[in-house]
Amino acid sequence: MRTCRRCLDEGYAIEPPPVFSGHAGAQVMLIGQAPGNTEVVAGRPMNAGSGRRLFEWLGAAGWDEADFRERHYMTSVTRCYPGRSSSGKGDRVPTRAEQAFCRTFLEREMALVNPRLIVPVGGLAIKLFYPAGARLNQVVGRAAYFPPQALQAPVNFDLKQAQRLDAFDPSKSPEGRWIVPLPHPSGASLWPNKPQNQALIARATAILYAIRESWNL
Ligand code: SF4
Repeated sequence: MRTCRRCLDEGYAIEPPPVFSGHAGAQVMLIGQAPGNTEVVAGRPMNAGSGRRLFEWLGAAGWDEADFRERHYMTSVTRCYPGRSSSGKGDRVPTRAEQAFCRTFLEREMALVNPRLIVPVGGLAIKLFYPAGARLNQVVGRAAYFPPQALQAPVNFDLKQAQRLDAFDPSKSPEGRWIVPLPHPSGASLWPNKPQNQALIARATAILYAIRESWNL
């Protein structure tokens, strides 16, 4: 993965190297959209402004930033900086082709890490798991639970086998897997600033808090 230059070779103006962190055996996998330029320079995901906002939310769920970075896995839908968008507002959204190229790595990461909790951050990562038409306000503040029998293989993106819930139920088997989405924390996104959406984020962090406490993540 560190040496991959496939998108460059296919003509996409990305800036390698790929950015990700963590190790096999991590119990939480956080999946963002793509690194920004400060992430490439620093060599760590969610490094600057996006990281500050994200770790405020994860802090509300009880995670210390350094501890989270040390113990858990952080990756993204595509792993190389895609450059600025042509509009000049924010970074370019990776194309479907780039997402497909990088998906191979995501599936391998999922198989190796086999996380108990997945936190997709932002619309692109959320679409890995939810129907393409799902809106943020339909999924943020809710969770999906895969019981163990639905996890035939470590990689499982089939939401039809999941139960969609508004809260974490500690009585669930510890062998299952939860997915708890968050919005994109970039300052370019105004969605998290609206009061009704802040309430949804608060519900999501409450679910994350309960899962972290119950499973000691
Ligand atoms: S974004 Fe993914 S597939 Fe594209 S060059 Fe980087 S690591 Fe390779």
